[in-house]
Amino acid sequence: KPSPAPDSWSSESSDSEGSWEALYRVVLLGDSGVGKTSLASLFAGKQERDFHEQLGDVYERTLTVDGEDTTLVVMDTWEAEKLEESWSPESCLQMGSAYVIVYSIADRSSFESASELRIQLRRAHRADHVPIILVGNKADLARCREVSVEEGRACAVVFDCKFIETSAALQHNVAELFEGVVRQLRLRRKDIAA
Ligand code: GDP
Repeated sequence: KPSPAPDSWSSESSDSEGSWEALYRVVLLGDSGVGKTSLASLFAGKQERDFHEQLGDVYERTLTVDGEDTTLVVMDTWEAEKLEESWSPESCLQMGSAYVIVYSIADRSSFESASELRIQLRRAHRADHVPIILVGNKADLARCREVSVEEGRACAVVFDCKFIETSAALQHNVAELFEGVVRQLRLRRKDIAA
């Protein structure tokens, strides 16, 4: 089965029952090595290969959150060496229904890159308030910590986004991260409907 072109992915799709925006694109951003692919593969669920579709670096899965199903398409397409022709950095910054900006708590420069990415995102999405979640990954590396929880939280306040620390290695807070993305997307949907 051929992979759909990025443009054919609709984030505003509606199903036969009339509930809308059943499918959301979630773009992972962040420096190389911070754990984006690890988080994406945990999202995809190694034991559930039959239930998700993997198109290269794109993972689709339906989550039931608060009794309601939502399909997320997680795109691990940011890094240049992984980019296919269709995923330019510009298109990555444009195509998200939501963004997850990942840094490593053990790497201060990745934290600084996260701020830079937030600024780039603001430029790419001037008017619309797309949900953004700032993620401090590798929380298990306590002894190598270079960015405190307080700094992460403060950064999220300044940048007007949600914040969570995760550990892909320990599978800590990873489900909570993607559930949080779903809840943020639903809040935005309610805003638009109001
Ligand atoms: P990406 O380049 O952002 O996609 O990062 P990867 O997912 O490829 O991870 C880079 C390296 O960090 C790999 O060796 C991972 O095993 C490791 N890694 C990812 N997440 C964690 C984590 O939460 N804790 C620790 N200790 N290592 C991690």
